[in-house]
Parts: sequence; C-alpha cells; structure tokens
Amino acid sequence: MPRPAAASASGDQQPYAVLLGCIDSRVPLEAIFDQTFGSICVIRTGGHVLDRAVLGSIEYVVDVLGVPLVMVLGHERCGAVAATVDTLRTGRRPPGALAHLIDRIAPAVTEVGLDDPQVQPLAVRRHVRRTVTTLRADPLLAPAVASGRIAVTGALYTLTTGEVSLLPATP
Ligand SMILES: [Zn+2]
Repeated sequence: MPRPAAASASGDQQPYAVLLGCIDSRVPLEAIFDQTFGSICVIRTGGHVLDRAVLGSIEYVVDVLGVPLVMVLGHERCGAVAATVDTLRTGRRPPGALAHLIDRIAPAVTEVGLDDPQVQPLAVRRHVRRTVTTLRADPLLAPAVASGRIAVTGALYTLTTGEVSLLPATP
C-alpha cells in the first residue's frame, strides 16, 4: 500500500537542512525533529565522525540541492565518545575500523583532558564544535558560510528530555 507522505515527496527533492548525527538508536534524527519524507537529509556515523564520504555528501546537499542549513547533532552518553575516553585511559585500541572512529574523536577528549571529571559530556560538546569548525573551513563550504548562504551549527540532544539545544560557537 503506497504511503501518502512518500508519494507526495517523490518528485524533485528540496530538503531544507542536512543533519549529521550519531548512529545511536535513541537518536533518530527525523523523529527528533518531527520530519518526514523529503524534508531533511540525514547522515549518521558512530559519534557523528566526519570522513570524506560524509563530507562529500554534505557538499552535495549544499552545492547541488542548495540546502541552507548544516547541523551537527551530538548527544548525551555517546558510546563512541565513551569508547574513546576508555581507549585513551587504558591504551587498548579496539580492533578493526572502530579504531578509525576513536582516532577522529580523540582530539576532542584530549582537549578536555582525561583528568576532568566531566570529560565525557564535555568531550561530546567539544567534538561537536570541532566538527562544526572543520565543516566551516571546508574549501567548498567556506565561501557559502562567508557569504551567509549557509549556516553550519552545532547542537546537543538530551536523551532524558528529548530536547535539542544549540551550542554556542565557543566553549
Ligand atoms: Zn553516539
């Protein structure tokens, strides 16, 4: 049986935002923002890690589809950030490609400092900000940011309340 919302969005797509978030099953981006077919582009990786495939996808959405908003959404109790903290504390790197995620999150943890009792939640925020900074500096995105055609923003999702709060650009 056809879904009416799917059918109505089956023509040319005109999403108004691209969201980069974590794979965590408690953080389904369309559901969090009450979005449906055709409204937003969603990219999810462990710990919302930005790699070239993700970057290329965002560039496509901004450049080809003309989307004006890029949002990076971190979340409370992120397992990828916790794994990174654990790796840096113990020196035991996980096997396989998971180590790639750890390596991409590690700078945020290091900047906060393992001695900080709030290292986990602070590293989540720092990692969002670092990701936003990287996106704003991307050669293809930077001119659009400078001209004001697009906004790149970071936000944090609170699991217990379901609330999203925008993060200021500086810590
Ligand atoms: Zn996560």
